[in-house]
Amino acid sequence: MGFFNAPELNHHEQVLFGQDEETGLKAIIAVHNTSLGPALGGCRVWNYESEDDALRDVLRLSEGMTYKSALAGLNLGGGKSVILGRVRDIGNEAAFRAFGRIVDSLGGRYVTAEDVNTTPQMMEWVHEETNYVAGLSPELGGSGDPSPFTAWGTFVGIKSSVNRAFGSDSLEGKTIAVQGLGHVGIYLVEHLSKAGAKIIVTDIKQDRINEMLKIKNVTAVAPDEIYDVEMDIFAPCALGSVVNDKTIDRLKCQVIAGAANNILADYDKHGKILMERGVLYAPDYAINAGGVINVYGEFEGYNEKRSYSRVNHIYEILQQIFTRSEAENIPTMDAADILAEERIRKIGRLKQMHRSGTRLFSKI
Ligand code: NAD
Repeated sequence: MGFFNAPELNHHEQVLFGQDEETGLKAIIAVHNTSLGPALGGCRVWNYESEDDALRDVLRLSEGMTYKSALAGLNLGGGKSVILGRVRDIGNEAAFRAFGRIVDSLGGRYVTAEDVNTTPQMMEWVHEETNYVAGLSPELGGSGDPSPFTAWGTFVGIKSSVNRAFGSDSLEGKTIAVQGLGHVGIYLVEHLSKAGAKIIVTDIKQDRINEMLKIKNVTAVAPDEIYDVEMDIFAPCALGSVVNDKTIDRLKCQVIAGAANNILADYDKHGKILMERGVLYAPDYAINAGGVINVYGEFEGYNEKRSYSRVNHIYEILQQIFTRSEAENIPTMDAADILAEERIRKIGRLKQMHRSGTRLFSKI
């Protein structure tokens, strides 16, 4: 891949390739945008087929973080890092401390965190070499597992979407299909049950289903049946791309609102189809921002209550997205992107002025 003309290099500020020959560490850190603040984004370990694939992935993911944090109203930019290889080869103290040194070399422009295939232990090793790590365990002064916050934000986002689609945000008697009972799904099911919803769950792990069946109003179906059930709301909380050419005609819901990343296989195509059919789609990066909102608390002195109150804003953010989408007759995902870009321009400009010493009011 040519670097500077690669389509994925979409206004990225900086890309850093780091390696440590002794441990075999090969890492890429992408800083997409720091207009609003330090570029926060997790570190993923993945055995990519090629280095080009790794670069593409980290560029795409870091751009996504810029939009997510901007839309959530946080003073954070977007970044991400990937470590190339298998956890069994690279998941050791020496390699992660070497990675910590690379993170530290950016002097805080990039702040790392856990992501796919990285663990609290690995982040503690990184922390031995740099302070620019977020989401550490509470014992180390961090905010810990973000999943309960992501689940709460998803619950709040479901209520907001239901309000727009049905005229009231009561979930009493509404049928919600939850796909995936992992870190986020289990908390979400509990919130939905307490709110009086009927919940249909699925997972590829039967023990997780059995656990959820103990909760009031919960029934279960096999993984592939979830697309066909009679439901008001579909809440994907497992994998990405679950709304695709094969499933979209099977879904009989009025709302799609879940925590999974990249729910629509093709944003343009499937976003338009859903809009034309009157199915309200809560953009994934807006509704699943609870985790990053919680981590953001660490930047200003962590306070759990404050985090929950910030996560509640997801309700209003989705209302703004839906209103914009209706007003301009565009898919909700496009409306979310526009709102995020507007905030980066407006608030990012103020921060730039501050940084360069420009006075906002020249007469003062
Ligand atoms: P997780 O890995 O803990 O749980 C995923 C669950 O989905 C597992 O129980 C797994 O068995 C199940 N699953 C896998 N394939 C399935 C299938 N085909 N059908 C049904 N179930 C299947 O992940 P998580 O932390 O709960 O996150 C869920 C989703 O939300 C992911 O897409 C993740 O990227 C996204 N997300 C999570 C967070 C967070 O704070 N954890 C934040 C933002 C976004």
